[in-house]
Amino acid sequence: MKKARLKLVFPIFLSLFVLSCSQENLVTRSKFLMGTIVEVTAPNQKAVEIVFDEFKILEEKLSHFNPDSQIGRLNSQGELVVDSQLIRVIKKSLEISQASRGAFDVTCAPLVDIWKKAIKEKNPPDKRDIEKALLLVGWKNIYFDEQSGTVKLKPGMKIDLGAIAKGFAVDEAIAKLKKAGVKSALIDAGGNCFCLGAKSGRPWSIGLINPRKKDEIIQIFALTNKAIATSGDYEQFFISNNKRFSHIIDPSSGYPADTGICSVTVIANDATTADALSTAIFVLGEEPGLKLAKKFKASEVKIVKGADCD
Ligand code: AMP
Ligand code: MG
Repeated sequence: MKKARLKLVFPIFLSLFVLSCSQENLVTRSKFLMGTIVEVTAPNQKAVEIVFDEFKILEEKLSHFNPDSQIGRLNSQGELVVDSQLIRVIKKSLEISQASRGAFDVTCAPLVDIWKKAIKEKNPPDKRDIEKALLLVGWKNIYFDEQSGTVKLKPGMKIDLGAIAKGFAVDEAIAKLKKAGVKSALIDAGGNCFCLGAKSGRPWSIGLINPRKKDEIIQIFALTNKAIATSGDYEQFFISNNKRFSHIIDPSSGYPADTGICSVTVIANDATTADALSTAIFVLGEEPGLKLAKKFKASEVKIVKGADCD
């Protein structure tokens, strides 16, 4: 499960910090959903509930931890006709996989499981287990028919939407808020944010935390109708022989991404893109990562790397 990044709850794991969001005419509420703390700032409690309800619906569909979710059933049965929300998130995942040449790959679930266990035990896994898991990884082996919603996996393959699902849920919840006439709100789902409209006529202020000094804000972004997401190596990791191993995996090697980057922040028009791109760029490294960001029309990318990661 992903650790929360909100300062008020778990200051140590913060990556993005909503600055001065307390306003007389806005309420801020948080709830544990989709394995993270979801914080919503909105004009009233009704709007907050719209967001939490949408997250709950998507948690029940997308979680690979839940055997009864659509992803859980797809993983155990190897084939499923999925609903329209899953069609959209799978379609986007495959687009990013193709454009990133597999650096982003939702089929790396078997590797993710191995490394999550390693992080828990603070011990690198057996090379043979990684080699075995690698045989099951490959987004090109997903059969996907957008028209019918049919998804088929090869035997043993599994899908983990951990790198895109929260951003997708943010977008779906924002769409519901807009439909309900809400003009101003901010959703932060574990570092995947969308800033809807303005806050008292001004952009929302989001602070980016130094990945190696959690009490330091290194940049402030002023955002209106934009999404921002951060992926980093400082929430889920362990250090062995002076080497840091994080939860973001390079599907080409089977090992955690190792490009000298410790955090990637992406600003984009939607949270699904920002979420997926931040993970993909973390794996790809700076130069190919920035090309990918351009392709998906990201407005801004902030990469923390090299000596700043020491
Ligand atoms: P994020 O925090 O958005 O960067 O997502 C990290 C999560 O995505 C991990 O905890 C895994 O569940 C999953 N993941 C790890 N590596 C990859 C990858 N290369 N492509 C897609 N998903 C990944
Ligand atoms: Mg992501």
